Amino acid sequence: MEIHIKEPKQILTKASGYLKGYTHTLNSYAGCSFSCKYCYVREMPISKFRQSKAGWGTWVDVKKGASNLLKKELVKAKQKGPVYIFMSSSTDPYQPVEAKHFITRSLLEVMVDIQPDFLFVQTRSPLVTRDIDLFNQLKPRLLISMTIETDREKMRKIFTPKAPPIAGRFKALQELKEVGLPTQVAISPVLPSSDSFAEKLSSVVDRICIDDYFMGDGSEGKRTKRLGIQEIYEKENLHEWYDPSAYLRVKKGLEKHYTEDQIFVSQDGFLPITSHNHENGIFPENNKKKEREEKLFLHASFQDANR
Ligand code: SF4
Repeated sequence: MEIHIKEPKQILTKASGYLKGYTHTLNSYAGCSFSCKYCYVREMPISKFRQSKAGWGTWVDVKKGASNLLKKELVKAKQKGPVYIFMSSSTDPYQPVEAKHFITRSLLEVMVDIQPDFLFVQTRSPLVTRDIDLFNQLKPRLLISMTIETDREKMRKIFTPKAPPIAGRFKALQELKEVGLPTQVAISPVLPSSDSFAEKLSSVVDRICIDDYFMGDGSEGKRTKRLGIQEIYEKENLHEWYDPSAYLRVKKGLEKHYTEDQIFVSQDGFLPITSHNHENGIFPENNKKKEREEKLFLHASFQDANR
């Protein structure tokens, strides 16, 4: 693993595209050692045009001085209006290097003093529990989202062999729940899981976001296709899971343990929880998603009937 210490000139980036509702993204690092096979960041300029010949997952840039930058940029941003931050969009803020360099922690310390209007923390690492003391000072304008795409370790090892084992993530969620921090699980992207996945989740988390390659990669699955993910499904004889209707199978299981307002589909599960969104109840996008789901359900039922 190549670790480079860099001194960026800017730390907050204007949010766009999929991260609707956010004003900024915040990335403590560039690069990510978890190196998930489906990671679409591999396809982004940050990875593609890097000088290093090494591939995605083999290098990490540590953003030295990030907290000093954030102090200045956050004050300025707040002067212009509400600040909704997504941490992180192109790295995992709690990847292993964080245990030594504490960049994410230093950013949280700044945000405790200069509070954003909402902070979304996206990770797949149990290291997130180290910062419970700071999260406690940021709630309730906070959501910690833990990626758990499957409950089957075999699948984790196929698709994300360098990511933390699933049991550790469940344990971390339990810990976050016990101290009353707002959490969700992002089943994103849906990977082949067991029939008891939803039941296991229901003991540790009250809110679920479910997403897949076809809704969530920003290109209706084209990006994922370029990464050769479909070939993995074929090689492992998992064809039925590489399908735009596969997420409905998982969602159906979730519906036995969660109410409708606890399950969010795709982009809606990543929106900032603001008073505006609360007032509107179900997000407008949900209507479109519902129509799409109904179509997919009909398509899946038709396929079943013809098997
Ligand atoms: S943890 Fe996220 S950023 Fe890191 S490799 Fe996996 S998908 Fe990409």
